[in-house]
Amino acid sequence: MPAKKLPERKDIPTEKTWDLSLLYGSLDDWEKDFTAIDAKLKELQQFSGKLSESAPTLSLFLKQSDDFSRLLDKLYTYAHLKSDEDTANSANHGNLDRIKSRYIASKAAMAWFTPEIMRIDDSVMESFLSDACLKTYVWTLRKILRHKPHTLSENEEKLLSMSGEITQLPYNAFSMLNNADIRFPEITDEEGNKVEMTHGLYSRFMESKKREVRKEAFKAMYTTFDRFKHTLAVTLDGVVKAHLFHARTRNYANTLSASLFPDNIKEEIYHNLIKTINDNLPILHDYIAFRKDKLNLPDLNMYDMYVPLIEDYEIKVPWEQACQWVKEAVKPLGSEYSGVLDEALSKRWIDVLECRGKRSGAYSSGCYDSAPYMLLNYNETLSSAFTLAHELGHSLHTWFSTHYQDYTDSEYSIFVAEVASTTNEMLLWNYLMKTTKEDKLRQYLLNHLCEDFRTTVFRQVQFAEFEYLIHDMAEKGKPLTLEELNRLYYDTNSRYYGPLVNADRLIELEWARIPHFYYDFYVYKYATGFSAAVALSEGILTKEKSRINAYIGFLKAGASKDPLAVLTDAGVDLTSPEPIRTALSKFEITLKQLKESLGQ
Ligand SMILES: [Zn+2]
Repeated sequence: MPAKKLPERKDIPTEKTWDLSLLYGSLDDWEKDFTAIDAKLKELQQFSGKLSESAPTLSLFLKQSDDFSRLLDKLYTYAHLKSDEDTANSANHGNLDRIKSRYIASKAAMAWFTPEIMRIDDSVMESFLSDACLKTYVWTLRKILRHKPHTLSENEEKLLSMSGEITQLPYNAFSMLNNADIRFPEITDEEGNKVEMTHGLYSRFMESKKREVRKEAFKAMYTTFDRFKHTLAVTLDGVVKAHLFHARTRNYANTLSASLFPDNIKEEIYHNLIKTINDNLPILHDYIAFRKDKLNLPDLNMYDMYVPLIEDYEIKVPWEQACQWVKEAVKPLGSEYSGVLDEALSKRWIDVLECRGKRSGAYSSGCYDSAPYMLLNYNETLSSAFTLAHELGHSLHTWFSTHYQDYTDSEYSIFVAEVASTTNEMLLWNYLMKTTKEDKLRQYLLNHLCEDFRTTVFRQVQFAEFEYLIHDMAEKGKPLTLEELNRLYYDTNSRYYGPLVNADRLIELEWARIPHFYYDFYVYKYATGFSAAVALSEGILTKEKSRINAYIGFLKAGASKDPLAVLTDAGVDLTSPEPIRTALSKFEITLKQLKESLGQ
């Protein structure tokens, strides 16, 4: 295949590029702001040792500190967007490096701030917090003070911060092995060519229609990991021990509560999620049974999970069409939402097309003083239309948070970060289901959503459960041996996929290749975020005013409350099994529709 010729950036129509002049008119303006950093940082340093003097002093410091952060955010946003336009442009890359190192240096220079706040006497702090001049900062300060019972003496903190680089090592070792050292054998692809397997090719081969190719790729993956299994058991044991060290030195009850503490999430949320999913495994088993029938296989193996049930559906979606779809899909959210979305499309917040040197992928990125920009590499596929809806979801969440909150409360937590983006995808999904007359498109959409449920809800909760089990073992002083890891993984996997799957024993090593097990109880957020988005979109589609207002309220809330409270206000109470159940019943209905549509 001849290499695709990419257009140069200068040949892209202006209306399909983002307008960064909304942020800085010229590089000179950026440079002028950049040179202001030092003086502003110096001013802030003068407050060191004085924060306990009075409420007005503390208030003045916090205000100036916010202004300083806003300046850094703005400089950084411009530099990184500019650099992503053309990654080969070394001048832009140089500016990005300059602001990055200023960021890190400023953070280090301001490291005295949190400990100084912690040292302020409780009664003095309480009187500060009731002072009107600190009204804007009460929530910010309370969030810092929550950490007091888990903060140690100055010398102990120094030791802990020095240990940080060491506790990173298990992950670094895993990552080096996984990305740099590991080599997979050659396998035979669909056309009969010998190709060296890679991580990227593995996911493609898992979707291959030829079972032999899937099976060979699966074997190539796991027999390779089998050669490193003892080492990888040690790196995983190492990261679990690092989490345990962190939890114990900082006086947390256990590793799970230590990880959930910053978002103020109770352990029961985590356990509820696992229990609700376990109670509903028959829905997944039903889907697995349907896959087996549809693929017409005598037995179903783990390498049969990713083959699409709907063959070769391709549709060309011109940019204007995608914009029109998304506009229609979000209409139930009301006029303010639609108005901002129109602005995003007409005021050039989006860099639409691929061109030479541009960064790949898609993201939404902005700061308090910029538009919430989006980078896309739009290629007229249905999936890139969904990416547009997704990134607009992020960007509008950012827009509402920054417009309705002070800077200090504007940055929403990772825990809710994927909710608005997934809600938009669900709205587009529903719009297309409702309006299309094409059976093929409906089947494609139904299949796609079923797969989302399997991979984002069930698979991530399976990971979350395994993660919990291995941490729990370590806490009870039981050794995490290779045999134990394999046994736990195989048993959990068998329970999730059910009796119809005749899993190759090699799947017991899947834990060895998943980077997320090094992230400290992270994956459950995929499942809660997705389920919350499904529950919210179902609510929005009822067109009840109160539910739509509650959703817009969620977008506006930013970080002004704990993430759970923000979601509860929007109608999704994750302390109850209800939102997960609502999401799962959507899965059941979708599966039923898919079966009907395929005449089964
Ligand atoms: Zn996203």
